[in-house]
Amino acid sequence: MVMPACDIPIPKKIKLAVRSYESQKTIIKLNGIEIGGDQVVIMAGPCSVESREQVLEAAIVVKEAGAQILRGGAFKPRTLPYSFQGLGEEGLKLLAEARDETGLPIVTEVMDPSEVELVETYADILQIGTRNMQNFPLLKSVGRADKPVMLKRGMSATINEWLGCAEYILAEGNLDVIMCERGIRTFEQITRNTVDISAAPILHMISHLPVIIDPSHGTGTRSLVGPLAKAGIAAGADGIMVEVHPHPDEALCDGAQSLSPEEFKFFMNDIKPIIGAVNRRL
Ligand code: PEP
Ligand code: MN
Repeated sequence: MVMPACDIPIPKKIKLAVRSYESQKTIIKLNGIEIGGDQVVIMAGPCSVESREQVLEAAIVVKEAGAQILRGGAFKPRTLPYSFQGLGEEGLKLLAEARDETGLPIVTEVMDPSEVELVETYADILQIGTRNMQNFPLLKSVGRADKPVMLKRGMSATINEWLGCAEYILAEGNLDVIMCERGIRTFEQITRNTVDISAAPILHMISHLPVIIDPSHGTGTRSLVGPLAKAGIAAGADGIMVEVHPHPDEALCDGAQSLSPEEFKFFMNDIKPIIGAVNRRL
Protein backbone atom coordinates (compact mmCIF):
# COMPACT_ATOMS: atom_id res chain seq x y z
CA MET A 1 0.00 0.00 0.00
CA VAL A 2 1.28 3.48 -0.83
CA MET A 3 0.34 6.62 1.05
CA PRO A 4 -0.69 9.48 -1.24
CA ALA A 5 1.97 12.20 -1.53
CA CYS A 6 1.29 15.70 -0.19
CA ASP A 7 -1.04 17.45 -2.63
CA ILE A 8 -1.78 20.51 -0.48
CA PRO A 9 -0.25 23.60 -2.13
CA ILE A 10 2.48 25.18 -0.01
CA PRO A 11 1.95 28.96 0.17
CA LYS A 12 4.88 30.42 -1.78
CA LYS A 13 5.38 33.70 0.06
CA ILE A 14 5.64 32.11 3.50
CA LYS A 15 9.26 31.21 4.20
CA LEU A 16 9.83 30.12 7.79
CA ALA A 17 6.51 28.61 8.87
CA VAL A 18 6.39 26.14 5.96
CA ARG A 19 8.54 23.04 5.62
CA SER A 20 11.69 23.44 3.58
CA TYR A 21 12.34 19.68 3.48
CA GLU A 22 10.03 16.75 4.03
CA SER A 23 11.25 15.54 7.42
CA GLN A 24 11.57 19.04 8.96
CA LYS A 25 9.84 19.08 12.35
CA THR A 26 9.93 21.58 15.20
CA ILE A 27 10.05 19.83 18.56
CA ILE A 28 9.74 22.14 21.57
CA LYS A 29 11.43 20.82 24.69
CA LEU A 30 10.09 22.04 27.99
CA ASN A 31 10.63 20.47 31.41
CA GLY A 32 11.19 17.01 29.98
CA ILE A 33 8.12 17.35 27.72
CA GLU A 34 8.44 17.29 23.94
CA ILE A 35 5.78 19.23 22.05
CA GLY A 36 5.74 18.02 18.46
CA GLY A 37 7.56 14.74 19.20
CA ASP A 38 6.17 11.29 20.01
CA GLN A 39 4.12 12.56 22.92
CA VAL A 40 0.55 13.80 22.85
CA VAL A 41 0.72 16.70 25.26
CA ILE A 42 -2.29 17.58 27.40
CA MET A 43 -2.63 21.20 28.53
CA ALA A 44 -5.41 21.41 31.09
CA GLY A 45 -6.77 23.80 33.68
CA PRO A 46 -9.37 26.48 34.24
CA CYS A 47 -10.38 29.08 31.69
CA SER A 48 -9.48 31.81 34.20
CA VAL A 49 -7.48 31.92 37.37
CA GLU A 50 -10.12 32.90 39.94
CA SER A 51 -8.51 32.30 43.34
CA ARG A 52 -5.59 30.51 45.00
CA GLU A 53 -7.83 27.60 46.10
CA GLN A 54 -9.37 27.21 42.64
CA VAL A 55 -6.13 27.19 40.66
CA LEU A 56 -4.24 24.98 43.13
CA GLU A 57 -7.08 22.47 43.22
CA ALA A 58 -7.29 22.46 39.42
CA ALA A 59 -3.52 22.07 39.10
CA ILE A 60 -3.42 19.08 41.46
CA VAL A 61 -6.39 17.43 39.75
CA VAL A 62 -4.96 17.76 36.23
CA LYS A 63 -1.48 16.69 37.35
CA GLU A 64 -2.82 13.57 39.10
CA ALA A 65 -4.86 12.65 36.04
CA GLY A 66 -1.76 12.87 33.82
CA ALA A 67 -1.77 16.32 32.16
CA GLN A 68 1.71 17.68 31.41
CA ILE A 69 0.98 21.43 31.24
CA LEU A 70 -1.29 23.69 33.33
CA ARG A 71 -3.39 26.27 31.52
CA GLY A 72 -5.13 29.29 33.06
CA GLY A 73 -5.93 32.84 32.01
CA ALA A 74 -4.87 35.86 34.06
CA PHE A 75 -5.52 38.44 31.32
CA LYS A 76 -8.86 37.54 29.78
CA PRO A 77 -10.15 38.71 26.39
CA ARG A 78 -13.90 38.90 27.13
CA THR A 79 -16.64 39.71 24.66
CA LEU A 80 -18.12 42.30 27.04
CA PRO A 81 -16.33 44.76 29.32
CA TYR A 82 -18.73 43.85 32.17
CA SER A 83 -17.52 40.25 32.33
CA PHE A 84 -14.70 39.06 34.62
CA GLN A 85 -11.50 40.38 33.08
CA GLY A 86 -9.06 38.14 34.96
CA LEU A 87 -6.84 38.76 37.99
CA GLY A 88 -3.94 40.20 35.98
CA GLU A 89 -0.53 39.94 37.65
CA GLU A 90 -2.08 38.44 40.79
CA GLY A 91 -3.33 35.60 38.56
CA LEU A 92 0.17 35.10 37.15
CA LYS A 93 1.55 34.82 40.70
CA LEU A 94 -1.06 32.20 41.57
CA LEU A 95 -0.17 30.24 38.43
CA ALA A 96 3.49 30.33 39.43
CA GLU A 97 2.50 29.05 42.88
CA ALA A 98 0.58 26.20 41.24
CA ARG A 99 3.66 25.40 39.15
CA ASP A 100 5.81 25.30 42.30
CA GLU A 101 3.28 23.00 43.93
CA THR A 102 2.88 20.53 41.03
CA GLY A 103 5.93 20.97 38.80
CA LEU A 104 3.63 21.60 35.80
CA PRO A 105 4.78 24.31 33.39
CA ILE A 106 2.17 26.95 32.65
CA VAL A 107 0.63 28.36 29.50
CA THR A 108 -1.19 31.68 29.81
CA GLU A 109 -2.46 34.39 27.50
CA VAL A 110 -0.84 37.74 26.84
CA MET A 111 -3.04 40.38 25.20
CA ASP A 112 -0.93 43.52 24.99
CA PRO A 113 2.60 44.12 23.65
CA SER A 114 3.33 46.23 26.74
CA GLU A 115 2.56 43.23 28.98
CA VAL A 116 4.75 40.64 27.23
CA GLU A 117 7.72 41.29 29.52
CA LEU A 118 5.58 40.86 32.61
CA VAL A 119 3.79 37.70 31.44
CA GLU A 120 7.08 36.23 30.25
CA THR A 121 8.54 36.40 33.75
CA TYR A 122 5.84 33.98 34.99
CA ALA A 123 4.77 31.90 31.97
CA ASP A 124 6.48 28.91 30.37
CA ILE A 125 4.44 29.29 27.17
CA LEU A 126 2.88 32.56 25.97
CA GLN A 127 -0.58 32.15 24.48
CA ILE A 128 -1.94 34.41 21.76
CA GLY A 129 -5.73 34.17 21.74
CA THR A 130 -7.98 33.84 18.72
CA ARG A 131 -9.01 37.51 18.93
CA ASN A 132 -5.40 38.64 18.73
CA MET A 133 -4.15 36.29 16.03
CA GLN A 134 -3.60 39.23 13.68
CA ASN A 135 -2.46 41.75 16.30
CA PHE A 136 0.83 42.32 14.49
CA PRO A 137 2.56 44.47 17.14
CA LEU A 138 1.75 41.73 19.70
CA LEU A 139 3.08 39.01 17.36
CA LYS A 140 6.32 40.94 16.85
CA SER A 141 6.64 41.44 20.56
CA VAL A 142 6.26 37.72 21.45
CA GLY A 143 8.58 37.02 18.52
CA ARG A 144 11.29 38.77 20.54
CA ALA A 145 10.43 36.90 23.76
CA ASP A 146 12.43 34.06 25.19
CA LYS A 147 9.52 31.66 25.67
CA PRO A 148 7.60 29.39 23.26
CA VAL A 149 4.44 30.92 21.84
CA MET A 150 1.14 29.12 21.29
CA LEU A 151 -0.72 30.88 18.49
CA LYS A 152 -4.44 30.24 18.43
CA ARG A 153 -6.19 30.32 15.08
CA GLY A 154 -8.31 33.41 14.47
CA MET A 155 -11.94 32.34 14.48
CA SER A 156 -12.37 33.65 10.93
CA ALA A 157 -8.86 32.98 9.63
CA THR A 158 -7.82 30.68 6.83
CA ILE A 159 -4.96 28.29 7.48
CA ASN A 160 -2.65 30.36 5.28
CA GLU A 161 -3.52 33.58 7.15
CA TRP A 162 -2.78 31.75 10.39
CA LEU A 163 0.58 30.57 9.04
CA GLY A 164 1.29 34.17 8.00
CA CYS A 165 0.88 35.16 11.65
CA ALA A 166 3.24 32.38 12.77
CA GLU A 167 5.66 33.86 10.23
CA TYR A 168 5.58 37.20 12.09
CA ILE A 169 6.76 35.47 15.28
CA LEU A 170 9.38 33.32 13.53
CA ALA A 171 10.72 36.29 11.55
CA GLU A 172 11.55 38.07 14.83
CA GLY A 173 13.74 35.13 15.82
CA ASN A 174 11.47 33.09 18.09
CA LEU A 175 11.43 29.65 16.47
CA ASP A 176 9.31 27.94 19.14
CA VAL A 177 5.81 28.40 17.78
CA ILE A 178 2.91 26.05 18.48
CA MET A 179 -0.25 26.25 16.37
CA CYS A 180 -3.58 25.81 18.18
CA GLU A 181 -6.81 25.05 16.31
CA ARG A 182 -9.67 26.28 18.52
CA GLY A 183 -12.60 26.23 16.14
CA ILE A 184 -13.78 28.59 13.45
CA ARG A 185 -17.05 30.39 12.77
CA THR A 186 -19.40 28.57 10.44
CA PHE A 187 -23.18 28.63 9.93
CA GLU A 188 -23.59 25.93 12.60
CA GLN A 189 -25.03 27.25 15.86
CA ILE A 190 -25.36 24.16 18.05
CA THR A 191 -21.65 24.35 18.78
CA ARG A 192 -19.86 27.57 19.77
CA ASN A 193 -17.44 27.09 16.87
CA THR A 194 -16.67 24.33 14.37
CA VAL A 195 -13.47 22.45 15.15
CA ASP A 196 -11.51 22.18 11.91
CA ILE A 197 -9.90 18.79 12.49
CA SER A 198 -8.35 18.97 9.02
CA ALA A 199 -6.05 21.73 10.33
CA ALA A 200 -3.89 19.06 12.01
CA PRO A 201 -3.02 16.95 8.94
CA ILE A 202 -2.90 20.01 6.65
CA LEU A 203 -0.43 21.84 8.91
CA HIS A 204 1.64 18.69 9.29
CA MET A 205 1.86 18.43 5.50
CA ILE A 206 2.88 22.01 4.80
CA SER A 207 4.48 23.18 8.06
CA HIS A 208 6.98 21.84 10.60
CA LEU A 209 5.23 23.42 13.60
CA PRO A 210 3.44 21.38 16.30
CA VAL A 211 -0.37 21.45 16.31
CA ILE A 212 -2.62 21.47 19.38
CA ILE A 213 -6.39 21.12 19.22
CA ASP A 214 -8.64 22.91 21.72
CA PRO A 215 -12.04 21.18 21.70
CA SER A 216 -13.22 23.21 24.73
CA HIS A 217 -13.39 26.57 22.94
CA GLY A 218 -13.97 24.66 19.69
CA THR A 219 -17.29 23.21 20.81
CA GLY A 220 -18.30 25.25 23.88
CA THR A 221 -20.01 22.11 25.15
CA ARG A 222 -18.68 19.75 27.82
CA SER A 223 -20.08 16.56 26.28
CA LEU A 224 -18.35 17.22 22.94
CA VAL A 225 -14.85 17.81 24.35
CA GLY A 226 -13.91 14.11 24.54
CA PRO A 227 -15.14 13.08 21.07
CA LEU A 228 -13.43 16.04 19.38
CA ALA A 229 -10.21 15.50 21.34
CA LYS A 230 -10.16 11.88 20.18
CA ALA A 231 -10.81 12.92 16.58
CA GLY A 232 -7.96 15.45 16.83
CA ILE A 233 -5.51 12.90 18.20
CA ALA A 234 -6.53 10.39 15.52
CA ALA A 235 -5.86 13.09 12.89
CA GLY A 236 -2.34 13.62 14.23
CA ALA A 237 -2.60 16.49 16.72
CA ASP A 238 0.48 16.86 18.92
CA GLY A 239 -1.63 17.76 21.91
CA ILE A 240 -4.96 18.85 23.32
CA MET A 241 -5.88 21.92 25.34
CA VAL A 242 -8.83 21.31 27.63
CA GLU A 243 -10.60 23.41 30.25
CA VAL A 244 -11.02 21.84 33.68
CA HIS A 245 -12.60 23.53 36.70
CA PRO A 246 -12.96 22.13 40.25
CA HIS A 247 -16.60 23.33 40.22
CA PRO A 248 -17.67 24.09 36.63
CA ASP A 249 -21.09 25.37 37.71
CA GLU A 250 -19.40 28.17 39.68
CA ALA A 251 -16.84 29.10 37.00
CA LEU A 252 -16.51 32.83 36.26
CA CYS A 253 -15.85 32.01 32.60
CA ASP A 254 -16.62 29.11 30.24
CA GLY A 255 -18.23 26.81 32.82
CA ALA A 256 -20.40 25.09 30.20
CA GLN A 257 -17.38 23.71 28.40
CA SER A 258 -15.25 22.96 31.47
CA LEU A 259 -14.81 19.38 32.64
CA SER A 260 -15.17 18.53 36.33
CA PRO A 261 -12.27 16.67 38.01
CA GLU A 262 -14.13 13.34 37.61
CA GLU A 263 -14.92 14.06 33.97
CA PHE A 264 -11.28 14.94 33.32
CA LYS A 265 -10.10 11.64 34.82
CA PHE A 266 -12.51 9.81 32.51
CA PHE A 267 -11.30 11.95 29.60
CA MET A 268 -7.65 11.03 30.21
CA ASN A 269 -8.47 7.30 30.22
CA ASP A 270 -10.75 7.63 27.23
CA ILE A 271 -8.08 9.18 24.97
CA LYS A 272 -5.40 6.58 25.82
CA PRO A 273 -6.44 3.91 23.28
CA ILE A 274 -6.51 6.54 20.51
CA ILE A 275 -3.02 7.75 21.47
CA GLY A 276 -1.78 4.15 21.28
CA ALA A 277 -3.57 3.55 17.99
CA VAL A 278 -1.60 6.35 16.32
CA ASN A 279 1.69 5.10 17.83
CA ARG A 280 2.07 8.02 20.20
CA ARG A 281 2.40 8.22 23.97
CA LEU A 282 1.14 10.47 26.73
C1 PEP B 1 -8.48 30.73 26.20
O1 PEP B 1 -7.85 29.74 25.83
O2 PEP B 1 -8.54 31.08 27.37
C2 PEP B 1 -9.22 31.55 25.20
C3 PEP B 1 -9.72 32.74 25.53
O3 PEP B 1 -9.33 30.95 24.02
P1 PEP B 1 -9.65 31.58 22.57
O4 PEP B 1 -8.67 32.69 22.37
O5 PEP B 1 -9.42 30.40 21.68
O6 PEP B 1 -11.07 32.01 22.60
MN1 MN C 1 -12.04 29.74 28.11
